[in-house]
Order: sequence, then C-alpha cells, then structure tokens
Amino acid sequence: MAKIRVGVNGYGTIGKRVASAVAAQDDMELVGVTKTRPNFEALAALAKGYDLYVPEESVEAFNEAGVKIAGTIKDMYKKVDIVVDCTPGNVGEMYKAQYQEAGVKAIFQGGEDHSLTGISFNSTANYSESWGAQLSRVVSCNTTGLLRTLNPIDKKFKVEQAFVTIVRRAADPGDSKNGPINGLEPSVKLPTHHGPDVQSIMPWLNINTMAIKASTTLMHVHTVVAQLATETTTQEVIDVLKEAPRVRLVKSKDGIKTTAQIMELARDLGRDRSDMYEIVVWEDGIKVVGNTLYYYQAVHQESDVIPENIDCIRSMCKVEQDAAASRAKTDAALGISKTL
Ligand code: NAD
Repeated sequence: MAKIRVGVNGYGTIGKRVASAVAAQDDMELVGVTKTRPNFEALAALAKGYDLYVPEESVEAFNEAGVKIAGTIKDMYKKVDIVVDCTPGNVGEMYKAQYQEAGVKAIFQGGEDHSLTGISFNSTANYSESWGAQLSRVVSCNTTGLLRTLNPIDKKFKVEQAFVTIVRRAADPGDSKNGPINGLEPSVKLPTHHGPDVQSIMPWLNINTMAIKASTTLMHVHTVVAQLATETTTQEVIDVLKEAPRVRLVKSKDGIKTTAQIMELARDLGRDRSDMYEIVVWEDGIKVVGNTLYYYQAVHQESDVIPENIDCIRSMCKVEQDAAASRAKTDAALGISKTL
C-alpha cells in the first residue's frame, strides 16, 4: 500500500515534532516542512534531511541566505495527500482556503476554533469522527489531557460534573518572549475556553474550567474534581487510568514530586526531544470520597498532541479503521509503552 504523503506547514514547537513523528511511521512519508525565515530551525530541518518549502514572498530571503529550498508552499501541496497545519493560532483561516483550493486534506491545531473545521479530534474519544474527512482539528494540549483521563472515567463511572483548574506553563522552553517570569496570573475571563473545547468532543460532559498562568516552562498541571454517578473506590479509578491509552501513572513517593522529575524521566527514557507524550497522573494523588473523585495530572504541552496528529492522519486518510490499532502503531514508533 502506498505511503500517506504528508507536508507540515509551520515548523515551530508542534510542527517540528509532528515532522519527526511522521518520519518515524512506516506508513507515512514526510514530503517536507515549511519555513518563513532561513533561521537556525530551517538549517536544523535541512540537516535532518527534510525538504524545505517556503511562502512565495520568502523565496528571495532563502536564496540570499544560501539556504536550499525545494519549492514554494504551493509546490508542496502538489506532492502531498495531507497537510498538518502547525502555524500559530488564527493563521489557519487563510491556509484553509489554500488547502481547499489545492484539494489537499488538512489538520489544524488547538489554536484554531472548532468552527474552522466542524470536526475536532482525539484518538481515545472520537477517532472515527474524522474518518475520511477533508478537514479536522487536533484539540489543544490541555483539552487532549482532559479527554485522555475524563473520557475513560466517564465511560466507566459517568461523570455528572467536573471542575478543573489548569495551572498553565507561562511559555514554552524555547520561548524567551512570553511570561510572566515572576508571579501567578489568573485568567479572569471565566469559565475559561477549555471546558467548551472538551465539549467539542464530549458534548454531554458537564465541565467547568479555570486557569492560572505560572512561572514555569515545563508542563501544565490540572487539578480535577469530578462528581461521579456511580459510587466507586480509589483503586477502581486507578485501575481504569492504568489501562487508559497514553496515560502514565507515577508516584510521588517514588520521587516524582514535581513536573521537573517528570521531564527528567522523559530524558531518562531517551525520548525524542525528551518528550512526554503521555498524560501523567500522580497515582498517590488520586482519591475518591463518596461520589467525588480528586486527581492531579501533568501535561507536556509541547508533545501530548503529537501522537494524536499521527492517528488523525490515519483516520482522515482512511488507512486504519481501528483506533486502537492506529494508536498501537503510533506508540510503537514513538516509544510510548505502558511497561517502561
Ligand atoms: P510556534 O510559534 O512554536 O510555531 C509556529 C511556526 O509557524 C513557527 O515556526 C512560525 O515561524 C511559523 N509560521 C508563522 N506564520 C506562518 C505562516 N504564515 N506560514 C507558515 N508558517 C508560519 O507555535 P506552536 O506552539 O507550535 O503552535 C502551533 C499550533 O499548535 C497553534 O495552533 C497552537 O495553539 C497549537 N498548540 C501549541 C502547543 C504548545 O504548547 N506550544 C500545544 C498544543 C497545541
């Protein structure tokens, strides 16, 4: 069977990871990535052997800098089945028209609104909804994190109501512009957009969210309080999360007390770019009291959506009908395992 030909538009935090993940799949071919400027990231992409495609207006700058390009972004459209759009939020609208005109499928990221595509994607919760679609959207890092744990918990115990506080990293590690670098900044527009974003995939879920930006770059942390319809035990919830795809349980008493140790674990596991694709839940921080479930989880914002993008490609390009089979393939290629 022919490989799915994939182009990545926008080679930043998410785009470079999607590119590496596509290149690691044996049923996909990375046709190339786009860059707007001939900077160090463009050179790093070339060094990895990726072809560079650039907007028409950037061709001269690349030529002047002596950085080799394979063509314009429009040339890339002619060679691909699907584009994974990883441009900054709200740029997608302009590109959507181009993708449609070129007749290529496209995946957008969580910085775009659900209304741009009308379909949002999470591999655990709604893999089949993107089956054969021309456009889809992989929801944001925080939404992906909430879906990975709340979906299996809801399936087993039925969540009547969930309250979540998101402690957000202020900037990504490679970003020296955003902040705060000192202080905690509450989102005063309430409830935050994260709840409705979860509902773009689980519309029946009664969820409310608040958020605070914190002076850290490593990960987000969620505190989750969920009212369950079924009375259960802490152990039963642990058992459900142990089985949940792309969820990793860790223990504070094993020395993983903060997000710093989670990132150290990712480095120890030898992951590409030290990524922690799984949502990390503190097992000794899970507690059920009556019908109320409490837990904490950490989200590696740079990487949790990467395996989702890969599964979304398979669903949209109709190469694997079974979500679990696609996840198994993706996870094997990225080194995600329940046993490590
Ligand atoms: P980024 O700023 O790190 O990368 C964006 C890349 O797109 C940059 O390389 C930039 O040069 C390039 N770009 C800008 N304008 C462009 C244009 N017109 N054409 C082509 N390329 C262009 O951003 P990011 O963090 O990777 O975010 C990308 C998307 O992923 C956003 O929708 C964001 O909301 C979403 N997302 C980000 C994170 C995160 O934590 N960083 C997590 C999940 C989802």
